[in-house]
Amino acid sequence: MSAQVTPMMAQFLEIKAQHRDALLFYRMGDFYEMFFEDAVAAAEALDIALTKRGKHLGEDIPMCGVPVHSAESYFLTLIRKGFRVAVCEQMEDPAEAKKRGSKAVVRREVVRLVTPGTLTEDTLLQARHHNYLAAFAEIRGDASLAWADISTGAFQVMACPLVRLGPELARLAPQEILVADGAEAALPVIEEAGVAMTPLAPSSFDSGSAQRRIQSLFHVKSLDSYGTFSRADLAAMGAIIDYLEITQKGKLPLLRPPNQVSARRIMQIDAATRRNLELTQSMNGGRSGSLLATIDRTLTAGGARLLEHRLSGPSTQLPVIRERLDAVGACVADTELAEHLRAALRRVPDMDRALSRLGLDRGGPRDLAAIRGGLAQADALQGVLAARDLPEVFQRGAAALAGHDELLATLGSALVAEPPQLTRDGGFIAEGYSEELDETRRLRDEGRGVIAGLQADYAAQTGIASLKIKHNNVLGYFIETTATHAQKMLSDPLSNTFIHRQTTANAVRFTTVQLSDLETRILNAGNRALEIEKSLFQSLTQAILSRNDAIGATAAALSDLDLTAALADLARVQDWVRPEIDDSRTFEIASGRHPVVEQALQRDGEPFIANDCTLTAADDNAALTLLTGPNMAGKSTYLRQNALIAILAQMGCFVPAQAAKIGLVSQVFSRVGASDDLARGRSTFMVEMVETAAILNQADERALVILDEIGRGTATYDGLSIAWATLEHLHDVNRCRAIFATHYHEMTSLAERMASVTNATMAVREWEGEVIFLHEVRPGAADRSYGVQVAKLAGLPMSVVSRAHDVLDALEKGEREGTERQKALIDDLPLFSATPASAPQAAKPSPLSGRLKDIHPDMLTPREALDLIYELKSLDDL
Ligand code: ATP
Repeated sequence: MSAQVTPMMAQFLEIKAQHRDALLFYRMGDFYEMFFEDAVAAAEALDIALTKRGKHLGEDIPMCGVPVHSAESYFLTLIRKGFRVAVCEQMEDPAEAKKRGSKAVVRREVVRLVTPGTLTEDTLLQARHHNYLAAFAEIRGDASLAWADISTGAFQVMACPLVRLGPELARLAPQEILVADGAEAALPVIEEAGVAMTPLAPSSFDSGSAQRRIQSLFHVKSLDSYGTFSRADLAAMGAIIDYLEITQKGKLPLLRPPNQVSARRIMQIDAATRRNLELTQSMNGGRSGSLLATIDRTLTAGGARLLEHRLSGPSTQLPVIRERLDAVGACVADTELAEHLRAALRRVPDMDRALSRLGLDRGGPRDLAAIRGGLAQADALQGVLAARDLPEVFQRGAAALAGHDELLATLGSALVAEPPQLTRDGGFIAEGYSEELDETRRLRDEGRGVIAGLQADYAAQTGIASLKIKHNNVLGYFIETTATHAQKMLSDPLSNTFIHRQTTANAVRFTTVQLSDLETRILNAGNRALEIEKSLFQSLTQAILSRNDAIGATAAALSDLDLTAALADLARVQDWVRPEIDDSRTFEIASGRHPVVEQALQRDGEPFIANDCTLTAADDNAALTLLTGPNMAGKSTYLRQNALIAILAQMGCFVPAQAAKIGLVSQVFSRVGASDDLARGRSTFMVEMVETAAILNQADERALVILDEIGRGTATYDGLSIAWATLEHLHDVNRCRAIFATHYHEMTSLAERMASVTNATMAVREWEGEVIFLHEVRPGAADRSYGVQVAKLAGLPMSVVSRAHDVLDALEKGEREGTERQKALIDDLPLFSATPASAPQAAKPSPLSGRLKDIHPDMLTPREALDLIYELKSLDDL
């Protein structure tokens, strides 16, 4: 059997056996080839041709391939479709292999596994979004979640019991999560969160070796200076490092020392609430239409990532929130400062990601230029900040921007203004930086000049004016003439000098000893220049990496400044105010607005009606507002806007209101609207109940809860009872601040029985049987829903609207007069008719409109017109 296996196939199969769960990209010259089932799967996923290459054990070998230079775009498609890719490179020059014998196979090795959580290339990453790799570890009832972004170096860990895993995954939205083989309990949660999961052997999660791995990564003897880590913390972090070693094949990315995150310091927002409030994604799954998209005015990728991070996890720490608000406030007050900042920030490249690629030996000249550009802007900004009297936070930021003079000077003189993408072709080191390089380049370029001179000489020598010296990759330099002239050169005496190389359809090509010599000299000088550039690239990279921490801190300070200036810009343009935050349980919003709905209405030239909200809890009581009002009146908008204002305030952002006083909110819960989750076998009602249960079980006295129409998905009385009991639970047990919107008007009587419940309603005006929504929240209770009127507005057939009116009348009248009577009234309803008796009759034409129809203004004299006015006037009086 083995006799039929070629040496190359044997090598392929051996490497493939070590990477069964990945598509093996096997490098052959300028292509990555895939074979067997990998080829079949990749050809389908990438929509490329599936071909054959030779036979294996008597069968054709399916094959497909992609060019190396465009491989990145194929990686992306494959990753998105759930594949992992093992990149297998040629580790020696084919010429080297040949020396071992004509049948020797080029040595190949897998140099990297491409997985969703370990990407570093800009083309594979979303610039404004983190790319987290997470790991969940559970040790004897203790559980932790660690996450790292190798494209920026972020590395964090937090204690995370299984019940918190879902909300944390919703907050971080990692691209990939590592779990130990056999950790069954976490699987449904991970599946629900939609995160790609990679099971690892339990040994990857061993907390003992994890500690050693972390210590050796950060070159420390103890982890004490980073914090006190539980066994589960260590296991989760260790798994990440182990996996990075596996996927990066021993080259570890530049991670920052681990940062321990405490769940108590972050406002808790569960997955359903995030979805309902459309914080970072709108209901349809995209960014546009979300709160994030509406408020994002950042100018740098790092600033955008920080914004997403802050919005996903607002703070619960007063000093942190106040400091952030101080900084935004300073920028709002000092427009000149804000403009300076934003002018410089506009030119700041993504230093974090450039640094990470350089650290993994995947960088290029543009990454060096990105560091140069970022540091140059940091330097300029440092000057701007130092010259002003600004809050403490800016002073710290300014300190982190400084101190790169030497590196900046080196990069400034070393690099050309616009370096090319790849190191391979050279041309990125500026003239004057290296004498040796300049000298070699001169030799190479002079050679090119000599060739131009040679062409003139040969033209004169042969008497062929059209003779040209050209270059291509196969022949190198050659002399070309047309077939007619070639005869002369092929005969004596010219044939002694000109050596024939190739005849094509239109031309004949020659070389000379002199030309080949010159070519070798140019080639040598060119190669040498390239070598020098490559080694300068390495030393510049090392100069940058040796200052990795300081550059990382500068990048972080720039992102922070960007976010501050962006939030200030937003506050100024949209007229937002600084919220007052304290540790009471106040919630007082004056003239609050919904930022997303307001902007959507602005685009249509419609005004947004601002509304107050007072939800201040006294002592250890609850504060509940029961909001009733017609459909479409703006209840959901009002509910959401108050939750969004709390979130914005605690992330350190000004808020869309005239004034806002907010006592720290620890958790935000929202249950808004109805959605089926049929994929998981849950009906609308079931989803609603699961989400309500989560709120009632978890909300503490600092929670802010918004509930919209609880109990709508079932029979009226069941629904009313559930809504009623839920409100009582919030009032007596959770004792939180809550707004509860409902169509069950019966519940408004609860305000009289419960001290901390107040009624509010959405104002409407009725006009000629139509409703006009005023979008105003007022004290009091609504008396009806106007559901039928809204249905009419929606374009329900007139017959249905009218019939609904009749049924509603019967039901309401019956309700007042007792069940028996209600039944009788319903029995007495006439049968449904498509042109119902009570449908508004077409009005009889009035004498006035009849007369108006007969008038042709163009035919009237002024006198007749005046008479006509008198006549019409008298008709109107009829
Ligand atoms: P339903 O009971 O049918 O769910 P609702 O009372 O929750 O309705 P919303 O969905 O909040 O109503 O609002 C309906 C529409 O009214 C919104 O899409 C928005 O265009 C408009 N609207 C809501 N609030 C305001 C406001 N304060 N100012 C101006 N327009 C508003």
